[in-house]
Amino acid sequence: MGELVERLRAGLPDGAVAVDPDVTGAYARDMAGFCDAGEPAVLVFPETVEQVQFVMRTATELRVPVVPQGARTGLSGGANAVDGCILLSLTRMNRILHLDPVDRIAIVQPGVVNAELSRAAEARQLAYPPDPSSWESCTIGGNIGTGAGGLCCVKYGVTGEYVLGLDVVLADGRLLRTGRRTAKGVAGYDLTRLLVGSEGTLGVVVEAVLALRPAPGPQLVLAAEFDSVDAAGRAVCDVMAAGFTPSLMELMDATTVRAVNEMAQMGLPESTRALLLVAFDGPDQRELLAAVGELCTAAGATEVVPAEDRAESELLLQARRLALPALERMGTTMIDDVAVPRSALAAMLNGVAGIAERHRLTIGMVAHAGDGNTHPVVIFDARDPEQAERARVSFDEIMALGLELGGTVTGEHGIGLLKREWLARELGSVGLELQRQIKAVFDPLGLLNPGKMI
Ligand SMILES: Cc1cc2nc3c(=O)[nH]c(=O)nc-3n(C[C@H](O)[C@H](O)[C@H](O)COP(=O)(O)OP(=O)(O)OC[C@H]3O[C@@H](n4cnc5c(N)ncnc54)[C@H](O)[C@@H]3O)c2cc1C
Repeated sequence: MGELVERLRAGLPDGAVAVDPDVTGAYARDMAGFCDAGEPAVLVFPETVEQVQFVMRTATELRVPVVPQGARTGLSGGANAVDGCILLSLTRMNRILHLDPVDRIAIVQPGVVNAELSRAAEARQLAYPPDPSSWESCTIGGNIGTGAGGLCCVKYGVTGEYVLGLDVVLADGRLLRTGRRTAKGVAGYDLTRLLVGSEGTLGVVVEAVLALRPAPGPQLVLAAEFDSVDAAGRAVCDVMAAGFTPSLMELMDATTVRAVNEMAQMGLPESTRALLLVAFDGPDQRELLAAVGELCTAAGATEVVPAEDRAESELLLQARRLALPALERMGTTMIDDVAVPRSALAAMLNGVAGIAERHRLTIGMVAHAGDGNTHPVVIFDARDPEQAERARVSFDEIMALGLELGGTVTGEHGIGLLKREWLARELGSVGLELQRQIKAVFDPLGLLNPGKMI
């Protein structure tokens, strides 16, 4: 440990190496409250690619594990420390290096905060669409690490669809450049796509070429109230089957609506069992919302209220973004992230309600409904071991249900520590074996984020 810190101090600028346990401890975990974290040996804040290479070379020479970190808003324990590790925070590499309206790309460092990139793109009449609810704090490096989704993915897709190329520092300190800056390109295996969602286990992203789109303009939102989550799920299917592509289609159940109102006095309708938010950007918003409103009514909506203007739309979106923090105030939470085919959404929502009833627990439901991506939030009192056990069992039953319905155990949050045993179930033995072989090619000594994902 002494040698490790000495060498890191010798090669990094003043203030870039922290060993005080109060400081390193504060960086030891992400937002997945229910995952273990080890004790880090040291925390470093490199500012250049060369400094990251130096850290990785040192780690390899001394055989020390390294955990790359962005803003630690992750929900799967992916950025949690392992014992004796170097915590490698990329947050000081936070510059937007280039923003090009002709090529429609941005070249950014990994510590750029998602919303800052969005605002910079908007200032040039462009958009970087992937928008996790945590967008005001999460970083592009973390978004690439997890393959993050967000609210507008139903129309614009997820992070992976916007990553054109990457600069990545490998475990031994070599610099790998993947992908392209061009609109098209198919040279070689698609290592860029492989690295997206690799959760810091294959390399450290130090620069990214991201695709931008023309700015779509503001969204207009409609709120539809239902007296069951089932009916809301059916409405989602009807809207998609009728050929609409909303820019957002989000669901909050009664528990979530109440929690958001309690946290932020949003005035959301509390008598509803499920609130569906549907939005369109671009032309003909009012006509499109009216048509979707009719479909919602036919599917059983008790009330359909289009927002008056942009400010009201923004308020509804803000309410949705507060959903997870609001539920977290109700107790200890385990936030699930199961995505099913949209056609199975109603079955998933019903199934989760059944699991909550069977285990006598509150499970708040938030969903990127248009993607079939549900976030059942199991709420419990961690001081009561019997209740905590029921919560754990429910969490697992939710994933089993998702797989049964043809879904995946993680739509966007990643495997991390939280779902490792479930990865094997989803991939099968051949899939898992190949993934382990790929890991060994990138990181033969197993130093990068060990114990995570695979
Ligand atoms: C309130 C709230 C709402 C959220 N909403 C959403 C949502 O709508 N959609 C969604 O997808 N997620 C959401 N999340 C989860 C989280 O914000 C995302 O997973 C996000 O992508 C994590 O970014 P981060 O910068 O915090 O990364 P971290 O949590 O620090 O890291 C995440 C993973 O990426 C790896 N990593 C980080 N930086 C790098 C790098 N430079 N190179 C290689 N690997 C790296 C880490 O090792 C880790 O495995 C939400 C979280 C919260 C708290």
